[in-house]
Amino acid sequence: MPDMDTIVSLCKRRGFVFQGSEIYGGIGGFWDYGPLGVELKNNIKRAWWKAMVQDRGDIVGVDAAIIMNPNVWRASGHVETFSDPLVECKSCHHRFRADQLKSDACPNCGNKGTMTEPRQFNLLFKTHVGPVEDDAAVAYLRPETAQGIFVNFLNVQQSMRRKVPFGIAQVGRSFRNEIITGNFIFRDREFEQMEMEFFVKPGTEDGWHDHWRDERLAWWRKTMNITDDHIRVKVIRREGTTIIGPDPHDVETEKPPHYSKGNYDIEYKFPMGWSEIEGIASRTDYDLTAHQKLSGKSLEYFDDETKEKYIPYVVEPAMGVDRAVLVALFESYQEEKVRDEKRVVLRLPKPLAPIKVAVLPLARNRPEIVAKAEELTVALRPHMMTVYDDSAAIGRLYRRQDEIGTLYCVTVDHQSVLADDAKYDGKVTIRERDSMEQIRVPIAEVKNVLLEKLSA
Ligand code: ATP
Repeated sequence: MPDMDTIVSLCKRRGFVFQGSEIYGGIGGFWDYGPLGVELKNNIKRAWWKAMVQDRGDIVGVDAAIIMNPNVWRASGHVETFSDPLVECKSCHHRFRADQLKSDACPNCGNKGTMTEPRQFNLLFKTHVGPVEDDAAVAYLRPETAQGIFVNFLNVQQSMRRKVPFGIAQVGRSFRNEIITGNFIFRDREFEQMEMEFFVKPGTEDGWHDHWRDERLAWWRKTMNITDDHIRVKVIRREGTTIIGPDPHDVETEKPPHYSKGNYDIEYKFPMGWSEIEGIASRTDYDLTAHQKLSGKSLEYFDDETKEKYIPYVVEPAMGVDRAVLVALFESYQEEKVRDEKRVVLRLPKPLAPIKVAVLPLARNRPEIVAKAEELTVALRPHMMTVYDDSAAIGRLYRRQDEIGTLYCVTVDHQSVLADDAKYDGKVTIRERDSMEQIRVPIAEVKNVLLEKLSA
């Protein structure tokens, strides 16, 4: 597996991720996705939405506002308890999360016993709504997308005539004023989440919790093509923490979050160690009950068949898109030797690859070749993400496309177009990224051959 610096440098060099506000020296915990990053991210989101909404009959989507009535965050417990213990080194004034310090030495200056007593630091970002900046106008940027689902539970259930069990999915930005950010896009202050709240009958939640652990683990494995020893499940229960999967002894005891009766955390083996990429929480009726209480509005579900009224329990798979981007990059980055030269190739699975095909003219000084390559590019664009590149010699162009995970390169050469060429065949070369195999295909058939390969 590559180290973090290799991935960071690839991301910047090839337009996946840039430092936010870079020309001003950046701003900690905020990143900008470049042209390839946004494609990769969109492809990951599409894969999730397909698996969670389109392919199932029991989940529907919403897109709720980021800023909500501040009472939402009072009810959910975030105003009161969404905090981390903050300490500051009295020598160098660096700040740390007390629960992440391994010894009493400051990780920055090395001095011992210089830390202040921990104080709880709330991670909610505050803002004001409207023209007056007083306490009554305070609002929060959402730290999770889930609450936009909870407050719409009955709106969705009734408008879509849903019966429990059913789920509501959402993709969107979340904000947390993390004390320490880092490990590139792993821990940010602005990030994107994909969350699904699955509403079930009380008493059935444990079975559904296991169901969603299995479903989500299978999704990660399949979508990112993750090798078995890079992924595992951490089981966090009130009575203790255990690991299912590699390194079962490497485990620290954790408490489930304030809203959860137990968590399955899916973890990936990053260079900095096993770290959470998705949490599957058994949220009980904690949130709906809290909203019912503070809003004074009933959030009970009425079961037509049994004539029972109850507040459903909730199982929530919640993942971070930015962490998924990182997993996709780590899992697919490979360096290999080809004819004594280093080849970097991103073996991204087909649906995730930002660019599906690159059309390359073999000789950019031959107008007929260039014109045919441009024509082919235009013809392919409506069907798949296509780029045209004539800015270097062919070997270099191939290397660039391999490095960003482009699945196929189509090369137009003399034989393809020059009727006076002795070897004229009206065909182009399709080169496959992983095997580097090349086939000759008549120009008129290129689109269908590629579409077939992409769907295989
Ligand atoms: P951590 O323990 O790493 O702080 P968490 O347990 O607070 O994460 P959850 O509240 O369960 O995270 O959020 C669900 C998912 O959202 C996480 O698994 C992660 O993928 C993503 N996520 C949470 N916080 C961040 C962040 N600061 N930056 C990027 N992604 C995040």
